[in-house]
Amino acid sequence: MRFLPLFLDLSSGTIALVGNSPAAINKLQLLRSAGASVRWFSDDEDASAELLTAGGPGRVEIDTSRASDIDASQFAAVVIAYGDKRDDAIAGRIRAAGGLINVVDRPDLSNFIFPAIVDRGDVVVAIGTNGASPVLARRIREQIEALLPARLGDLAALMGRYRERFAKARHASRSLRRFWERVVDGPIGAAALAGRWREAETALARAVEDSRSPEAPSGVVFLVGAGPGDPDLLTLRALHTLQNADVIFYDDLVTQEILARARRDAELVFVGKRKGEPGIGQDAINRRLIEAASAGKQVVRLKGGDPFIFGRGGEELEQLRQAGVSAFVVPGITAALGCAAEVGLPLTFRQEATQLTFITANTSDGAEAVDWSAASNPHTTVAVYMGLSAAGTVRDRLIAAGRDPKTPVAVLVRGTRPDAKALVGRLDELPTLAVAAGSGPALLVIGEVVARSEPWRASLSRQEVEVAA
Ligand code: SAH
Repeated sequence: MRFLPLFLDLSSGTIALVGNSPAAINKLQLLRSAGASVRWFSDDEDASAELLTAGGPGRVEIDTSRASDIDASQFAAVVIAYGDKRDDAIAGRIRAAGGLINVVDRPDLSNFIFPAIVDRGDVVVAIGTNGASPVLARRIREQIEALLPARLGDLAALMGRYRERFAKARHASRSLRRFWERVVDGPIGAAALAGRWREAETALARAVEDSRSPEAPSGVVFLVGAGPGDPDLLTLRALHTLQNADVIFYDDLVTQEILARARRDAELVFVGKRKGEPGIGQDAINRRLIEAASAGKQVVRLKGGDPFIFGRGGEELEQLRQAGVSAFVVPGITAALGCAAEVGLPLTFRQEATQLTFITANTSDGAEAVDWSAASNPHTTVAVYMGLSAAGTVRDRLIAAGRDPKTPVAVLVRGTRPDAKALVGRLDELPTLAVAAGSGPALLVIGEVVARSEPWRASLSRQEVEVAA
């Protein structure tokens, strides 16, 4: 590492800026919006006048004296942006005088460089590439921008206001670190990041008051939807919870790529069912969630797709509530949405498909017991979860309910994963497609809109090729 990131106190002095190039104007705007006080060595009167009216909390004074005479000891830092040979001469002198110097786009002449910045008020992230690639730094900044909650700086400011109060109030048994971790990771942080300021502040004030008594552990459980498999389909909030978790209880549907996004030292506990092995059972899962939360841990219950769609998230939430454990639900992209998007299958389409039904073929009484009448309307797109092994029954019951045996169908297997597969055909062929699909997870989609999907178009053009041959 040649350049160590440090943060400069802008109130410690004035920054000298030299030059009139577009790069200099850029830096002027950056320094000004950061609130710096700038002495601008500029020899272009017009541009200068124009810029003085530009916004920003910082102050700018123009100095028309020769930049080559700058006395480094008068400035907190010097930034030079002539973009020609003059840069070298001034930079050499200022470095020799022991001043902080940045020459724009010339890390070789600089002893400090400007990072790309993610600005969330009190929270500032600096990104550097040792001067090698500002473009790469900007790309990384965009990714971090997307990752950091918009209200992070406000949360930091809220915590700043209560810092001293907590330090004075707390009982000796209360750890500073744990208290603030719980604020950030728990309901107070969640409320603040959601913009519910009054709730966040009231809860924080109460937590500070409560901290006068000795510690009693209390954790929190997040029921998190992991999406259909592709880690890029995690929501930003799901990612935050994974990165803050102490322990993650996950299902069979959760892929390794998603688990790889979790905090590195989070404990990962598999509680799903694998083929041929009994799972630990729902009661045991509920018990373990409650135990972990009661031990003061930040618990994530990670489920494929969305926790509230055929995921038993509803039951878990009720059990947690009954046990008095705080629980939050983080939605995920359900399999039908992920799989349909992947193959360009619009689940609704103007008059052609005006209803969408999510059905599971896996009730405790089997697919026979499902009420298929809601799926009888020809304008309804039907997405069947857990239907692969019941494909024969699904076909029979839909046809009995009045669906045309020629209705287009798709079997979308391991959707959004690297080994995803899509098979298309007609409703009366559904069981054959299901056999050809191999092992799941798989979603059955029945409806006219299937004919608009990419696999259907591809199969049509294959048939055309075969007919032509
Ligand atoms: N809560 C999950 C569904 C759990 S039920 C969700 O919202 O998606 C499990 C069923 O979901 C599987 O049997 C299958 O029908 C469907 N499923 C889950 N992930 C899938 C994937 N990647 N591709 C196709 N179907 C999937």
